[in-house]
Amino acid sequence: MAVHDSVVDAIGGTPLFRLSRLGAGLAAPVYAKAEFLSIGGSVKDRAALSMVLAAERGGLLRPGGTIIEATSGNTGIGLTIVGRRRGYRVIAGVSDRSAPEKSDILRAYGAEVVVAPTAVPIEHPDHLFQVVRRLAAQIPGAWLADQYDNPANPDAHVRTTGPELWGQTGGRITHFVAGVGTGGTISGTGAHLKQASGGAVTVVGADPESSLYGGGDGSPYFVESIGHFLHPGTEEDRWPVSFHRDVVDRFERIPDRESLLTARRLAREEGLLAGPSSGTAVAAALRVARDLGPQDLVVVLLPDSGRSYLSKLYNDDWLRRWGFLEEPRTAAGAEPTAAGAEATVRSVLAGSGPGGAPGRLPVVGSDATLAEALAVLRGVPGGVAPVVLARPARPYGISATEVLGSVSAAAVDRALAGGHAKPGGPVTALLGPALPTVGIGEPLSSARAVLGPDHHAALVLLDGRAAGLVHRTELGG
Ligand code: PMP
Repeated sequence: MAVHDSVVDAIGGTPLFRLSRLGAGLAAPVYAKAEFLSIGGSVKDRAALSMVLAAERGGLLRPGGTIIEATSGNTGIGLTIVGRRRGYRVIAGVSDRSAPEKSDILRAYGAEVVVAPTAVPIEHPDHLFQVVRRLAAQIPGAWLADQYDNPANPDAHVRTTGPELWGQTGGRITHFVAGVGTGGTISGTGAHLKQASGGAVTVVGADPESSLYGGGDGSPYFVESIGHFLHPGTEEDRWPVSFHRDVVDRFERIPDRESLLTARRLAREEGLLAGPSSGTAVAAALRVARDLGPQDLVVVLLPDSGRSYLSKLYNDDWLRRWGFLEEPRTAAGAEPTAAGAEATVRSVLAGSGPGGAPGRLPVVGSDATLAEALAVLRGVPGGVAPVVLARPARPYGISATEVLGSVSAAAVDRALAGGHAKPGGPVTALLGPALPTVGIGEPLSSARAVLGPDHHAALVLLDGRAAGLVHRTELGG
C-alpha cells in the first residue's frame, strides 16, 4: 500500500471497473474510471492541483494569497483541499442550482462559500461569473482559477488521466466517453489517448439532450455540471477555452430521465454510487458499445460520487415530484400492485384535451402584452396560465426552471377596468406567484394537496418540463 506525506500526493491513480451487469449482452467490454474515489471525491482534484501549481510557477499565486473560483462544487473542493494544504485562503462561488451538500463540503474543508443565482444572463452583475470576478479584483493577492479558460485544466488530464487509462487498458482502449463541463477532462484525456494510439481512439462526448455542445437548443436540463445551457438573455455565447472541440469525434445526446435512471442502476446493479453526470456518461457509453465488437474496449469516466445527490437523484419523492419517476409508491415491504395503486396525474392529463388527447398547456411569454395574455387566458378553465421566460420556440418544451410566475384573467380584467393598466402594457406588471407543480407520476391526492385552498390549477411536470395543467375540477376527491 502506498504511503503519502500529504493527501495532495494521492490525487489521481483511480481504479477501473468493468461494468459487467449494465454491459451484459454487449460484445464490447465497458470499463468505468471511478474518479469519485479521488481524495476530494471527484475528477476535479486533478485540475485543481494542476491549476494551483501552474499559478505558483507563474507567480500569480504567492504566500498569503487567496484562491477564488466559480464552481459547481467539485472544482471548489479540489481547490480548497490543495489550497488550504498549501496555506491559502479559498473563496468558492456556487450557483443556487447546485446541490446544497456540495456547499456544506466546501465549508467543511475550510472554504468561504458565496452563493449566486443562475437565473440571470451571464452579463448581469449578479451572475456567478461577475460576482467572482469582482471579488478577485477587490481582494489583494487574489487569483481567479478560471477553470473554463485555464490551460492547466485540460493539461492535468494530458499528464495524468490519459496516461493512466492507456496503461490500465494495456493500450487496448478504442473508445473514451465523458461528459463536457469546462471540457478539461475530455479535451486533455482525449488528446493524450489519440496521441498514444496514433489517432485510433474515438472520443465521444456525453451531453444532456438539450445542451448546446451536442446540438441541443440550449434550454435548461437537470443533470448538473455538464453541458452548455444558454439563458435567453445572454448576448454572446462563449464556449470555454478549456474545451477543445476538435478532440471530440461525436456526441451522444442523453435525455435527463435516461441519465438519472442509469445512475441509479449503476448504484444498484454495479455497486458504484455516482452522480448524475456519471449517469449521462454511462448511458452514452452503453449506446456507443451497442455498435461495437469484442475487439473494442470502451472506457467511461465517472466524475463524482452519488453521496452529494442523496436528496435529489437518489430520492424517489424528488424524482417523482419533477416527473422523472412514474412507478407507484409502495409501502415498505409491499409489492407494487396495479389494483391497489392510486390513479396518477397522468391519467387525468391524458384525457383532458379534445377527444381524449393530452391536455393543452396555455403559456404566456414574459414579453407578451396584457391583451395578448388575455387572448390566451380566455380559453383556459379557471383563467390562469404560467408566464415563462420570453424565448424562441424550443423543441424540448418549457423547463420548470424557466417558469417566472403566473397571470390570471381576473387580475388583468381588474387592472384594465380600474385604469391601472393598458392593453398594450407588459404582462410582467401583473405577474402572480408561480402555479404549484406536481409530477406526472404522483397520485391525485398529491395534486389536491399542492392546490390547497387557494389554487385552481397545478402545472404538471414530465421529465422536469411543463406537460400541461390539471384543474381542481378534474381531481375528484
Ligand atoms: N461531472 C461533474 C460532477 C463535474 O463536477 C464536472 C466538472 N464541472 C464534470 C462532470 C465535467 O468535467 P470537465 O469540467 O472536466 O468537463
